[in-house]
Amino acid sequence: MKSFIDVAPASHFPIQNLPFGIFKPANGSARVGVAIGELVLDLAVLEERGHFRVPEFDGRNVFSADSLNSFLALGRPAWRKARAVTQHLLNSETPILRDDAELRARVFHAQKDVTMQLPARIGDYTDFYSSYHHAHNVGTMLRGPDNALMPNWKWLPVAYHGRASSIVVSGTDVRRPHGQTRPPDSAAPVFGASRSFDFELETAFLIGPGNPLGSPIAIDQAAHHIFGLVMMNDWSARDVQAWEYQPLGPFLAKNFCTSISPWVVTLEALEPFRKPLPTQDPEPLPYLRAPDDFTYDIQLEAHLQTRTLTAPHTITRTNFQNLYWSIAQQLAHHTVNGCNLQPGDLLASGTISGATEDSRGCMLELTWRGANPLTLPNGETRKWLEDGDRLTITGWAQADGYRVGFGEVTGQILPAA
Ligand code: CA
Repeated sequence: MKSFIDVAPASHFPIQNLPFGIFKPANGSARVGVAIGELVLDLAVLEERGHFRVPEFDGRNVFSADSLNSFLALGRPAWRKARAVTQHLLNSETPILRDDAELRARVFHAQKDVTMQLPARIGDYTDFYSSYHHAHNVGTMLRGPDNALMPNWKWLPVAYHGRASSIVVSGTDVRRPHGQTRPPDSAAPVFGASRSFDFELETAFLIGPGNPLGSPIAIDQAAHHIFGLVMMNDWSARDVQAWEYQPLGPFLAKNFCTSISPWVVTLEALEPFRKPLPTQDPEPLPYLRAPDDFTYDIQLEAHLQTRTLTAPHTITRTNFQNLYWSIAQQLAHHTVNGCNLQPGDLLASGTISGATEDSRGCMLELTWRGANPLTLPNGETRKWLEDGDRLTITGWAQADGYRVGFGEVTGQILPAA
């Protein structure tokens, strides 16, 4: 399949991907678009012209909205239809846009000329703790290698409820937070700017149709409720966290800012990169078991740009397959007590670390709590992130001749106010 739009082989946005996002053109209101190559396709204009007047949309207009929420609520048949219509319109064999210069001028915007916004109004946000190596490394630091994992870790996907109001779109600067920390050898805490500023390389998925309060979603139905995935950076203040509560971050160590990428890659686009979930030992309880449960082969990287580095430096390379618990298991567990999810809720993976030292997903692990600082190509060292540093997370699935990518989530650290 090929588009009449030129797409470079290394582009994250070929016709096989078509991620959805919310963009604001220079002269116009925010609306729904799809990324193709270096362009954005304006779905609001196409909807206005009747291209989505199909039974799956039930007469609803969803693409002139400034969030994906109404579209998310429609569910998988509508998502599939929207993808099929969009893919058809962009296909090199389809003349509708290809041969209509006037319409093309209306529906295509250069990505560099638009402002991306959060893809959804995120009502609730949950952060899991689903990477075995991350949990094991952090547990080893806290309790030693013999008790690294809590007894429940391989029986249920551990998570905490995060804060939705401080989730920001990629490109937003993040300010170093203040908080209580306790210096070594001191019984009492001090107040001041965090000195252990960290990132966490994560992915997250957006919920489509929710479930009524009291009605769990069975694991074999989970995928019907998952629209797609984004990249996420769960900024963390480790010194605040160490004094506040360990090992998770249920409060101020985490809720000052969380960044996500603007383009949502659908499960349909990820289908060619689906892999069976590895056998879990011990076998999970029946409500967490599905015979065809799956993960994806998605390569993940974090790049650090300091004020003096000449180019961003790759500080970790990991893979989505390093998650022990699947997204279906996370969703089934989240709702098993009857907790209701809603369109636009965001469920994140937790830091994704691999088995090797260079595949760890945060500074805490990469420097082993500051004991082994990273040395950058220009000789600078880092125990933690410093003011002026820019941290970028990117990810993509590689196919033969094209890649299905997420773009990036990036943010620069501003000094404490
Ligand atoms: Ca996290």
